[in-house]
Amino acid sequence: MSAIGNAADSIKFTGIASAEELAACPGVSSAERFEKGPVAVVECVQEIPCNPCEHACSSGAIAVGQPITRLPVLDGAKCIGCGECLAFCPGLAIFLVHKNYTDTSSLVEFPYEYLPLPEEGAMVPCGGRDGGFIAEGKVVKVRRTRHNDGTALVVVEIPKEYFMDIRTICRKGAVHGRG
Ligand code: SF4
Ligand code: SF4
Repeated sequence: MSAIGNAADSIKFTGIASAEELAACPGVSSAERFEKGPVAVVECVQEIPCNPCEHACSSGAIAVGQPITRLPVLDGAKCIGCGECLAFCPGLAIFLVHKNYTDTSSLVEFPYEYLPLPEEGAMVPCGGRDGGFIAEGKVVKVRRTRHNDGTALVVVEIPKEYFMDIRTICRKGAVHGRG
């Protein structure tokens, strides 16, 4: 375990990846890559025996290798932004981000395992990794997959400034956050 992983705000103690862990995460692309188009964000920061993401990507953009506890490494140059890997991750740790969707907005896609599913076109409260409210977003697409018992994927359009912060839709009763 690294020094980052032993910090009080690390995922080991909070269940949520810290800013330091994300900054050191090999699944998160460079700032330059986000400018070029949609890209996966593999926010996997714990060394656990897991690798479905590696086999889910037909472009070979995700590598775990051996031992299986290695953190997945994303090759942003190989990622075509298809989103196919998202529903394969049992840890719900993979997202798709299209930073420059418009001049002012980004698209963020994430797995969503709650019912009811949101309606396309609806405005919804969007939250961060802790589920706390950050900003309103518009549901652009909802799609069911055949993976992990039918995990749904939701795409929301959000203010661009939050493209690395918003990762879900707030559930009813989530009152903490920046709102
Ligand atoms: S978004 Fe597509 S190309 Fe990129 S890592 Fe996931 S499966 Fe591979
Ligand atoms: S499938 Fe998810 S939890 Fe497993 S190694 Fe890949 S990103 Fe991490």
